[in-house]
Amino acid sequence: MKPEIDRLTPDNIVDFIGSIFDRRGGEEYLGEPVNMGQHMLQGATIAEQNCQSEEIIVGALLHDIGHFTSEFGTFTMNDTEDRHHEDAGAEVLERFFPSVVTDCVRYHVAAKRYLCATRPEYFQRLSEASVHSLNLQGGPMTPAEVAEFEKNPNLDHIIAVRYLDDAGKRPNMETPDYWHFAPMVQRMVDQYTAQ
Ligand code: FE
Repeated sequence: MKPEIDRLTPDNIVDFIGSIFDRRGGEEYLGEPVNMGQHMLQGATIAEQNCQSEEIIVGALLHDIGHFTSEFGTFTMNDTEDRHHEDAGAEVLERFFPSVVTDCVRYHVAAKRYLCATRPEYFQRLSEASVHSLNLQGGPMTPAEVAEFEKNPNLDHIIAVRYLDDAGKRPNMETPDYWHFAPMVQRMVDQYTAQ
């Protein structure tokens, strides 16, 4: 049933991601009051409610997809740590999505380190689990890292998705399911892979 990463195509990637939401969305999001599926759906729903761009909505929807790394054959069974899930997710998505979306996925952890370094009020709002992982992820960026990060042309989108990542941790928020967003995701894949 599980397509290997190299069997994914523009025609099955959207359903494949949907099957991950359906089968594994209920998994715990460590230390947060929502599960993984709710977390990503909340971010996407908040973006949609705020009339943010489709790139931001889809970026928020998929930003943590790399947590399900075993689906993609990227890591071994021995990896129990969430090791660079942002890279694992972006690697799978980059064949099908524009770089603005994959950058939102690839850099959502770096964006936290960036915001902690550049916006003092941001750190205050992080959840306890997020502060803990910040330390594992290298802490706030250094000034040199900040300067480098700001060269990314997709910086605004990356920051927007990061805020949605932090917002999508509400214990009682109703959202539509993945399939509500699937046509938008497919449209984006079709547009990108037609180029
Ligand atoms: Fe997240």
